[in-house]
Amino acid sequence: MQKKIALLGSTGSIGLQTLQVVDMFPEQFKVVSIASGGNRIDLIEKQIIKYNPQVISVTNEECAKKLGVKYKSRQRKVLSGLEGVVEAAVMEDVDLVVAAISGAAGLVPTLAAIKSGKDIALANKETLVAAGALVMEEVNKNGVNLLPVDSEHSAVFQCIEPDQAEAIASIVLTASGGPFRGYSLDALRNVTRQEALKHPNWSMGSKISIDSATLMNKGLEVIEAHWLFGIDYSRIEVVVHPQSIIHSMVRYADGSILAHLGYPDMRIPIQFALTYPKRWGNALKQLDFTQVGTLSFEKPDLQKFPSLELAYGAGKVGGIMPTILNAANEAAVEMFLNDQIKFLQIPQLVETALAKSQQITNPSLEDILEADKAIRLEVKNVYYKGLIN
Ligand code: NAD
Ligand code: MG
Repeated sequence: MQKKIALLGSTGSIGLQTLQVVDMFPEQFKVVSIASGGNRIDLIEKQIIKYNPQVISVTNEECAKKLGVKYKSRQRKVLSGLEGVVEAAVMEDVDLVVAAISGAAGLVPTLAAIKSGKDIALANKETLVAAGALVMEEVNKNGVNLLPVDSEHSAVFQCIEPDQAEAIASIVLTASGGPFRGYSLDALRNVTRQEALKHPNWSMGSKISIDSATLMNKGLEVIEAHWLFGIDYSRIEVVVHPQSIIHSMVRYADGSILAHLGYPDMRIPIQFALTYPKRWGNALKQLDFTQVGTLSFEKPDLQKFPSLELAYGAGKVGGIMPTILNAANEAAVEMFLNDQIKFLQIPQLVETALAKSQQITNPSLEDILEADKAIRLEVKNVYYKGLIN
């Protein structure tokens, strides 16, 4: 039977690679709905023609109108706004929702999909950072599979042996170190947007590329791992591994360490989430150890990349703080991408936001959405003024 997929974030880096995986197995997968922001109408049109989805959702209303005129029919809906994304996610036919929207904008549609009993292939880590407790509660209540797409989490997921959860000593997340590994603080002060966007091993959307350069990406992944695997922060390690060949590891109590290896190619974890629990053969390049040569490891430099520590801190404190961390970071990254602030000011803004915010223990979804919105405005209009050069 064909697996019916809702693809949220169809025009992004993960969205496009998901479609490449679908193309490898056209008999097994059918894309029944697509959702995206709506900036790339040319690309959306190509996807409509090629995949013939029943529901198309674009956040941008103008774009939805244009698409509606051309593609709306009795069999096909063209929707806009957040309601549109939610509808694309909860459609009756859908077996699996690929959550590949960037940022906390993915939270509401992903939660809606979980509540309607859909399995989720989760790329959108910000959903778990902003609302981990709520999301996991719904996952458990509705008995759905939450399958990690993030390469590190897919690796850990595959290294956790059935019935051995008790024996896990720690999870070891690997980090490439990003484009600025080894830079001095002075050099970091003046790095440009273009330099920050150039990741050495992965080609990704702009927000996650900047997060990889600040190491906030690894910080978000620590929080993501905490929720996905129900493991305490004290047992989540981060090690810099510049070659990105080991995608992550699990340490067991007996001293054994299981690792997941492969070339840095997101189609591998995407495919595993789509075919789970099966593994299907594909034509992707096989790892050649002699070509890889050396695998090396080093400690993350928390002085130059304080975002990682800020994330551990917010995660441990819990409550509303991870939501604040994530929203402040999204706002700061946006400002950096618009050339409004410098690279080292990104963690400064996040730190200020965390320091100035009131804790809310056990926040509701309303608390989370409100804080998410409020902090973005504070960062852009208030905290921004207190920056040190
Ligand atoms: P991207 O910027 O390339 O794509 C984002 C997609 O989301 C686009 O289709 C965009 O139109 C859509 N989108 C943005 N805002 C939206 C909104 N409000 N409503 C509907 N659609 C919206 O990002 P990406 O690199 O593909 O990353 C997507 C997610 O996957 C992120 O959470 C990222 O952290 C995670 N992730 C990405 C990679 C990677 O290699 N790219 C790896 C691991 C995890
Ligand atoms: Mg990752």
